[in-house]
Amino acid sequence: MNEQGDPRALDALQRYFGYESFRPGQAGIVNALLSGRDVLGVMPTGAGKSICYQIPATILPGVSIVISPLISLMQDQVDALNDVGIPAVFVNGMQTPDQQELALAMAANGQAKLLYVAPERLETQQFLNFATRTPISMVAVDEAHCVSQWGQDFRSSYLGIGDFIAHLPTRPTVAAFTATATERVRRDIISILGLADPSITVTGFDRPNLYFDILKLSTKNKTPWIARYVASHPSESGIVYCATRKETEVLAASLNRTVPVLRGAEAGGAEAGGNEASGNETKLGRVAVAYHGGMLPEARGQAQRDFVTDRVPVVVATNAFGMGIDKSNVRYVIHHNMPESIEAYYQEAGRAGRDGEPSRCTLLWNESDVVTRRRLMDSDYENSRLTPEEQEAVRISKRRLLDAMVGYCRTTECLHTYMTRYFGEQVAPNAGTCQGGCANCGQTFETVDVSDIARAISMCVHDVRQMVGMGKIVKILRGSKAKDLAVWNPETLSTYGMLRNISEAQIRDVFNQMVADGFLHITEGNMPIVMFGARAAETAQPGFHYEMKRINRKPSSRSAFG
Ligand code: ADP
Repeated sequence: MNEQGDPRALDALQRYFGYESFRPGQAGIVNALLSGRDVLGVMPTGAGKSICYQIPATILPGVSIVISPLISLMQDQVDALNDVGIPAVFVNGMQTPDQQELALAMAANGQAKLLYVAPERLETQQFLNFATRTPISMVAVDEAHCVSQWGQDFRSSYLGIGDFIAHLPTRPTVAAFTATATERVRRDIISILGLADPSITVTGFDRPNLYFDILKLSTKNKTPWIARYVASHPSESGIVYCATRKETEVLAASLNRTVPVLRGAEAGGAEAGGNEASGNETKLGRVAVAYHGGMLPEARGQAQRDFVTDRVPVVVATNAFGMGIDKSNVRYVIHHNMPESIEAYYQEAGRAGRDGEPSRCTLLWNESDVVTRRRLMDSDYENSRLTPEEQEAVRISKRRLLDAMVGYCRTTECLHTYMTRYFGEQVAPNAGTCQGGCANCGQTFETVDVSDIARAISMCVHDVRQMVGMGKIVKILRGSKAKDLAVWNPETLSTYGMLRNISEAQIRDVFNQMVADGFLHITEGNMPIVMFGARAAETAQPGFHYEMKRINRKPSSRSAFG
């Protein structure tokens, strides 16, 4: 066997799908499954997971069951397989009882090689009857991270999959797939699904055609930057992700007010070549649509159609946008805010350039994004069904995800390398520069020593006995004469005027970085108070050293507006 693996698998790849060769990682998974070994495949969306179980399913005897959470996609998946000549069926609650029986009968008598179901289906008596009398070669579990409470998308129905498999008369080979990187979630997948000594493959995370860029911008500068970007790429399709529904509407309206739209792009649609619109004729029109989960289904569907058919070049969306939407020519994805994890970021950013053409992923962030994310995270679990100890564990795990996200924003390393290593993919020993595929490679960085500023901030929080907000602390440190400081007799405080010569913006930057790094903590509510965080004591230690990074952008860095 060569590295493309079992000749039957390569033959099936070429015959059914018309692809010449397997992508890295695929052949290994297919071979493991053909030899009866369980697998855990960790690959991002779009990397080609489906083929990893579809091809073995065509070769193995009997039927393979595919467990997938999205009923709405089953029809499309099954149609696509039937189109290439692979017999497949699905069973779900949208069918009549007769249709369900027919699908199960086809799976039982060998007329279908793949049977798609949602996890809830496994618990029905009808399905159990079918499963106990039909030889099942393989069970493939898509979006397997849904078994874990430590991930983003826990679904209790996934917990029944392990039991279902354990009660089958003959144990099938089990294949689990996810795009989640954390160790904890991977361990849960293995133990809850009962994978037996699985072959673990992590691959497909690097996307060389994507250019990654990170820009630290103040909140008020984000919208103008996005408007300028959209205006200078009038013939391109893009997604702008926002953190809240409100933001998507405000930003879409603002883009529509300020960005001229090419007439062809607005009126042409797919028939006129869509975003290929030519000519310089511009007029104010609709350049963007908003999309979020709070919209009525009809309006949401319309927004999606407008974007997918290129009638409108830009969709401004919450993370509700994307699941099951296949648009290959998205040229850029801009994040208006920092997402809660690298998994979330990579999944959303990865919707750019699915056609393999060069595309850009830009993350706009600032320190207050981090503070907001932390605050949201802490309040997220208050009404949960979990015990207080479990809630705390989930919080810690979510904070770690966020820390890695913040690390991405701050790193001076190659962004492709940072990402692939995060997901656990082997990074080649000579990796470390993507040769112009990210904003960090080829840049120089200035590292600024801000130890004195950090120490002064910490002393001031102590001076005011952890009882005031950030604004007042900055004023005290800069020696302000503002009236609202009077109750503190500021002249008597040891830190009054200590940072007189430092700009307010710089103090705030250091402040926010200290919050993000756990030196300080800001309370929730209308009057946020600055308290000491878990690492506060470090600032009082003699060797305390604290740095901030600044990028010296070289003119050669790939311009966003070029
Ligand atoms: P995932 O399930 O990981 O999100 P898909 O299985 O939908 O990804 O695959 C994404 C795209 O890549 C599909 O269009 C698929 O046909 C294509 N693809 C998968 N494997 C290969 C391959 N070996 N060669 C070329 N294209 C492939």
